[in-house]
Amino acid sequence: MGALGSGRWVRPTRKKTVTGCVQLDIRQLARVGALQPGTWLWVPVLDCQLEVTEHGLVSYRHDRQAPSTPPLQGPQRLPVLWRVCRFGGQRPIFQCPTCPRHVYLMYGETGHGWRCRTCAALAYPSQWESALLRQMDRANRLRRRLDSDNCLMFPVPQRPARMHRRTYARLVALIQRHEGGLVPAWQNQLQADRAQLTQLTQDVRQGV
Ligand SMILES: [Zn+2]
Repeated sequence: MGALGSGRWVRPTRKKTVTGCVQLDIRQLARVGALQPGTWLWVPVLDCQLEVTEHGLVSYRHDRQAPSTPPLQGPQRLPVLWRVCRFGGQRPIFQCPTCPRHVYLMYGETGHGWRCRTCAALAYPSQWESALLRQMDRANRLRRRLDSDNCLMFPVPQRPARMHRRTYARLVALIQRHEGGLVPAWQNQLQADRAQLTQLTQDVRQGV
């Protein structure tokens, strides 16, 4: 095994929906010729080293502070299959280590190793959903303090006659703050939904 820091550096894309989750694209690895057996790939974000073998990738996680110690996690095998293309040649594809899917992208997260998007995303959309619902709930509760029938679908109610102007201004500012936070949360949810849809479409095409 090569020393830590030797071999190629993988510059992974951070998956925005999950903190600490990085993406490994087999098409990109093939493009840069990194799928030659004997190659070592280094994923610094995860303190992880990947060995390219005849049958796929083998992942080891090391302690950054003490690189000479045995791996913290691993070996985790990421089998690579070579599919024959219709017009000649072969293209590589990962076999997810935790489900039967064949995918181009693997997502790595400390504590979970590498998984396909479906396996990795399972635990996460609910977090986005709950973040979104929490924001909506807070905004709605504040709106109901101004008018018991009001909700997000309607304009912010006028100041109730019994309420101080200062209290009203504070509540409106809070409503705006919570509702302002909904836009990025919605965008994240939409992004997660779109990713899931792309994966589903890909699976249907591939007959997985
Ligand atoms: Zn999977």
